[in-house]
Amino acid sequence: MRILVVEDEHKIARALKRALEQEGYAVDVAYDGTDGAAMATTEPYDVAIVDRMLPGTHNGLQIVTAMREARIHTPVLLLTAMGTVEDRTTGLDSGADDYLVKPFALEELLARVRALLRRPKDQLSATLTAGDLTLDTVTAKVERAGKIIKLTQKEYGLLEYLLRNQGRPISKETIIAHVWDYDADILPNTVEAYIKYLRAKVDKPFDSPLIHTVRGFGYKLEATA
Ligand code: CA
Repeated sequence: MRILVVEDEHKIARALKRALEQEGYAVDVAYDGTDGAAMATTEPYDVAIVDRMLPGTHNGLQIVTAMREARIHTPVLLLTAMGTVEDRTTGLDSGADDYLVKPFALEELLARVRALLRRPKDQLSATLTAGDLTLDTVTAKVERAGKIIKLTQKEYGLLEYLLRNQGRPISKETIIAHVWDYDADILPNTVEAYIKYLRAKVDKPFDSPLIHTVRGFGYKLEATA
């Protein structure tokens, strides 16, 4: 899952990027409202974490408004130094999905991000499943048929993305856009390589494959049989 962080305090931005990457997310950072608004309205993100007070053309609320006007419904977690009731209402009125008052614990932020990534309609729990495979988004534990599977950060990120979109064919380009950050120079054959690593751990030792190739397009994760 790819996350945008818009935060002008470099120290906080770096800490967020590091913590989110450790969770297996791809993370892009914008350090002002100008870049933040441009990235939020042009690149595909699964969640945006946006500081409210920003230098540049857009403050945090204006970024959210610009996204919603562009019909981009990416969930937004607004960071704010102010915690009054009025401030909270303005933040949520602008179209933000949740807000967090600074200073916050990183664990709290990660929990909010996981909640925003959950789709209420089909994912009520923090555990993603397909057949006998489970991925616990809180503990990052992956198991298949009761066996623990150890994955690298990128393999985990790729598996989480496929699981969240299971049953749907996903193009290699879409996988690149959601699993790798902007700075990563990724080609479709890199995706093929990572799918190969993932299959070796998730599919090969077991009876039925979950990751299916969609020829000339990409991949689909689906538990058949
Ligand atoms: Ca700020």
